[in-house]
This record gives sequence, C-alpha cells and structure tokens, in this order.
Amino acid sequence: MRPLTIAIDGPGSAGKGTIARGVAMQLGYQYVDTGAMYRAVALRALREGLSWSDEDGVAALARQLAFAFQFRDGSLRVSVDGEDLTHAIREDTIGMGASQVSKLPAVRAALLELQRSLGAAGGVVMDGRDIGTVVLPDADLKIYLDADLEVRALRRHAELSRRGEQTTLADVRRALDARDRQDMERSVAPLRAADDAVRLDTTELTIHRSTQKVLELVRERAETGA
Ligand code: C5P
Repeated sequence: MRPLTIAIDGPGSAGKGTIARGVAMQLGYQYVDTGAMYRAVALRALREGLSWSDEDGVAALARQLAFAFQFRDGSLRVSVDGEDLTHAIREDTIGMGASQVSKLPAVRAALLELQRSLGAAGGVVMDGRDIGTVVLPDADLKIYLDADLEVRALRRHAELSRRGEQTTLADVRRALDARDRQDMERSVAPLRAADDAVRLDTTELTIHRSTQKVLELVRERAETGA
C-alpha cells in the first residue's frame, strides 16, 4: 500500500487525537499533533510573561522552539527544547491560550513551514483545525471529524476528571463551545471542513469503530487512488 498523507480536522474533543494516533500506529505512520504545537507556544509564552495577544513576541518565540514528538509505551510524548511538556500542555487554560495565540497570523506563519515539512514525506497522519484546508491542501485523504457538543463535553469532562482536574460538566461544555466558536470565527485559517473532506460524525461511535472507519477509508484511497 503506498504511504498516504492523511489530514484530520474538527472541533475539540471530537476524537481527532486518539483516532489519528490509532491510525498512525496501525499503519506505522508518523503522527503529528499540530494542536500540541499551539499549546506549547501558549504555555511557553505564559511562562515567559508574554501576553497571548502579543503577536510579534509570541511569533518570535514560536520560531525559536524546537519540537520533538516521540511514541513511548503507546503514548505520544511532546518535548520542546528538550523538556517533556506532554502533560503540562493538556490543561484547559492552556487549550484556551492555544486558541488565542493561534488567531494571530504571524504565529500561524511561524508554525506552517514546520508542519508542511513534517507532512512532506508522506506516511503521516496530521491532526488540527486547518490541515486539510491550509497546511496540507493536497493530502491524499482528508477527514472532518465531528460529534455533538454534549458528547464532546462528556468526553472532555471524563478526560479532565481522570487527570484529577475538578470541573463541572457545564463549565467544560461552555469552555469547549467558546473555543470552537473562536476557532471557527477567526479570519486566518478558521476551522472548517475542506470541500473534499470526508465527514465522520463520532457521536454514536466508539473510538475503536471510528478508527476502523478511518482505516477503511485509507485502504480504499490507497487502492483506488481516488
Ligand atoms: O487540538 P487541540 O485542542 O490540542 O488544539 C488547541 C488549539 O490550537 C485549538 O483550539 C486551536 O485554536 C489551535 N489549533 C489551530 N490549528 C491547528 C491545531 C490547533 O488553530 N492546526
């Protein structure tokens, strides 16, 4: 099977990361989590006392960061400048910070070339908000993953609870909805399905079934080239 380039986009907690990781592991592809890059930029900006709306400052920071992604014991580790930030970037405040910094055109430009170069060789699954529309417009397969807000909020709430973060379902739903709106309404690279994306609604699907469906699409695409 020829190695494909697979783009997965969609709103928060639609299952992108888990499904993209599962597909990459099954196929022996590289997985690139572009959301983790924006999260890492937000976290480092916070630590360095930069405002999330300081476009020049945050873009200069983003250009300097050295990202490394590594699979270890089945999970993806994200390191920046040699420091493992896998867990630190998952906090909800950092997600909101990522959504703030990712609105800034210079910050997106700072990460775009790196993301494109990671996708260039093929045999890659990349997930985010603008992968099929901007980062890899020629991807072999584009998937737009979605699920009802209520189900996405339940998934996010369960994930946060597992990590010991105390929040209510209502707060999680509100934060998720606000972030999705911000991502959809921004002027640069807004979240939307590419015209040639296959839409997959995971509201009633398990992660396993969703991953199987994506793998079926990959096989079809690899065989037919269509
Ligand atoms: O996917 P994740 O929730 O980790 O992404 C965090 C935030 O990063 C998103 O809400 C979005 O604002 C931003 N992002 C983006 N473009 C991408 C990936 C993520 O703007 N390709």
